[in-house]
Amino acid sequence: MTRIVYVNGEYLPEDQAKVSVFDRGFLFADGVYEVTSVLDGKLIDFEGHAKRLARSLNELDMRAPCDSDRLLEIHRELIARNALVDGMIYLQITRGAPNDRDFAYPARETEPTLVLFTQSKPGLAENPMAKTGMKVISIEDQRWGRRDIKTVQLLYPSMGKMMAKAAGCDDAWMVEDGAVTEGTSNNAYIIKDGTIITRNIGTEILHGITRAAVLRFAREAQMKVEERAFTVAEAQAADEAFITSASTFVMPVVELDGKPIGTGKPGPVAARLREVYLEESRKAAMH
Ligand code: PMP
Repeated sequence: MTRIVYVNGEYLPEDQAKVSVFDRGFLFADGVYEVTSVLDGKLIDFEGHAKRLARSLNELDMRAPCDSDRLLEIHRELIARNALVDGMIYLQITRGAPNDRDFAYPARETEPTLVLFTQSKPGLAENPMAKTGMKVISIEDQRWGRRDIKTVQLLYPSMGKMMAKAAGCDDAWMVEDGAVTEGTSNNAYIIKDGTIITRNIGTEILHGITRAAVLRFAREAQMKVEERAFTVAEAQAADEAFITSASTFVMPVVELDGKPIGTGKPGPVAARLREVYLEESRKAAMH
């Protein structure tokens, strides 16, 4: 089955979908994105993603191509047209394609580019990595200073992923001024004496939609949460560690820079949070 994607008002087979060479997303990484998970054909936390998207656009003074009701309609249409059961919907908005290359923003009337496509991942919630855990390395955080805006400027995170692969690991945690910021495409957490510790939100990290939900569930379950910076040494001495993101949910981390964390196996707190997150998210998912 050929994948049907959405580009600027049209649903097209993926090989017929085109974006201009002058698109500012292509030339300047002048674009924002969101990734929303789909489980059993239903959208996980669509509202959270729509809100963050609106915030990203606002922070960059970028025009929204349409309102969030219309975005929801497109998400639903893509799920239907691609018979998507488990996977993700990727959405990208750029500042459009004026007919030339210029650092200055184009006129406000320039139509933004809107692209959405599905990624099918059968059994997304049964990722075997949840049983084995991930190995991560630490790398210097060399990204720009507005990581709270979800831009398509993802070259350094891609490089980080490759550094992790070269080291035989699954991902990299980025470190700035001696403290962990986040993973290449996820938020980072440690657990010490029952307390969940994760970086406080600010401009240094992306305000993860999964992060917000997981912390809410943890607090509802009377677990202690500390939102603060932590070091690599602190993480290596922790009882457990894990990451969160829309497509991995809650995923245990069992090794950092070659040192086992806790028992070196996925721990009970991360496992419980994963279970609760998946259960609650499925309940609240939108058709
Ligand atoms: N931090 C970064 C740098 C990310 O790229 C992502 C995933 N897009 C996250 C955190 C997790 O955010 P979310 O839970 O909204 O997927």
